[in-house]
Amino acid sequence: PFRQRLLVVANRLPVSAVRRGEETWSLEMSSGGLVSALLGVKEFEARWIGWAGVNVPDEVGQKALTKALAEKRCIPVFLDEEIVHQYYNGYCNNILWPLFHYLGLPQEDRLATTRSFQSQFAAYQKANQMFADVVSEHYEEGDVVWCHDYHLMFLPECLKRYDRKMKVGWFLHTPFPSSEIHRTLPSRSELLRAVLAADLVGFHTYDYARHFVSACTRILGLEGTPEGVEDQGRLTRVAAFPIGIDSDRFIQALELPHVQENIKELKERFSGRKVMLGVDRLDMIKGIPQKILAFEKFLEENAYWRDKVVLLQIAVPTRTDVPECRLLYMLDFIVSDLLFKGGVKVLGSDCFTYHTVLDYINQSPESLVHWYLLDYQKLTSQVHEIVGRINGRFGTLTAVPIHHLDRSLNFDALCALYAVTDVALVTSLRDGMNLVSYEFVACQDSKRGVLILSEFAGAAQSLGAGAILVNPWNITEVALAIGQALNMTAEEREKRHRHNYLHVTTHTAQEWAETFVSELNDTVVEAQQRI
Ligand code: UDP
Repeated sequence: PFRQRLLVVANRLPVSAVRRGEETWSLEMSSGGLVSALLGVKEFEARWIGWAGVNVPDEVGQKALTKALAEKRCIPVFLDEEIVHQYYNGYCNNILWPLFHYLGLPQEDRLATTRSFQSQFAAYQKANQMFADVVSEHYEEGDVVWCHDYHLMFLPECLKRYDRKMKVGWFLHTPFPSSEIHRTLPSRSELLRAVLAADLVGFHTYDYARHFVSACTRILGLEGTPEGVEDQGRLTRVAAFPIGIDSDRFIQALELPHVQENIKELKERFSGRKVMLGVDRLDMIKGIPQKILAFEKFLEENAYWRDKVVLLQIAVPTRTDVPECRLLYMLDFIVSDLLFKGGVKVLGSDCFTYHTVLDYINQSPESLVHWYLLDYQKLTSQVHEIVGRINGRFGTLTAVPIHHLDRSLNFDALCALYAVTDVALVTSLRDGMNLVSYEFVACQDSKRGVLILSEFAGAAQSLGAGAILVNPWNITEVALAIGQALNMTAEEREKRHRHNYLHVTTHTAQEWAETFVSELNDTVVEAQQRI
């Protein structure tokens, strides 16, 4: 039977590629939500287009990688070091990511550095065009092209310039902020216009969609309708499509003998204590310090619980990869930044001139890079400090209240951990959706544990009725919620779990992908009928 072709375009391909020799690559498929969503969709023949996450400067290597990836239905976009630095580390992760999560308005340090901003923005547009070029090479009439995330906001426009009839959808996996925040972005209008070139624009929640429509009406002066945004009779459909998980994959993993074994071990290890769990990438948006401080407050006020509860916090390191080869480029970037500012306060409290910076680079280049990555590193040491203090304060010779791990777990280990948890704590300050909360629920059908969930995570819109919702900034409220969760009756836990479990197992990733693509097909048909 005929299956429509679906080109999925995202910054990263769902594989990790390691070069083993001049012409040999070893590939490993990663298994994120998006991958399993699309593997589950049988109606479409999906192909992936994206960056493989490695720099391949030579043609021999590029050819070999392209060939190896083809077997996995993946098509690479080759980005060089400089583009990756300016587009990915710079514009995507230093500008759009914080802004979309309401972290740091464009202050002097971040955006008003017009010079680096402009060059990063130019690199962003250039990178998007490179993705578009690869799409257009592989596009066939009738294909659906689905663009993903804040890395590729320019892509819909580039694609429509190539072929006005191409069916183009764009989905944002982060929050879209209030128009008052988006307004501060120097390239606010260009980004909105480029996204509006798509036929269908999707967000996780109704709020994000509404913020996007307001940004278009207030900043571009266009008309917002219940359907989307209208510009001179042309409609861009805007709607909410909350993502889900492949819940069966989690439920089935729990049945595996080695996972069962792991569950048994964990139960023995923590017998006599309630297990609380946090699983986050170590990122400012996840509110990890806030979570730990709330747990401390709970222990402070509830002496009874001190030796009866343990918090396991998995903090997966993120964006700490700065390969050596990028070093020189970054230094150049930092120096031009400083030059532009005319020698300003950046390193500690001293005032540096151009020449002292040069001296500094000669003596100790690592420290400048350190400064550049400071945000993430500061967070790590801040968290370590708080954890140390609390364990020192409430620990005994044989047990501590917090186990903090700075690393990731594999899928099976994570499932076992979810299954033995009594209370999961998600305290994101902002989070597009938060899949950890869904995964926890999927693994809890025998335990019926409690989910404490930040109202600032997209998941609060769907799991709000079953979870205890909290404002993560209010440590008193979170500490009370911990008490409420630990003391909750079995009937109430059952009722809340039922609600969430039903939601998670019926609103799956697969259903999400099918809904988005069929809505995109419908939108295009309706638009043709209007003409
Ligand atoms: N995860 C993982 N290994 C770990 C911890 C987490 O693979 O050690 C996965 C987790 O299963 C989830 C994802 O990382 O699917 C985190 O997604 P979420 O939406 O919660 O947050 P994001 O990291 O996308 O901001």
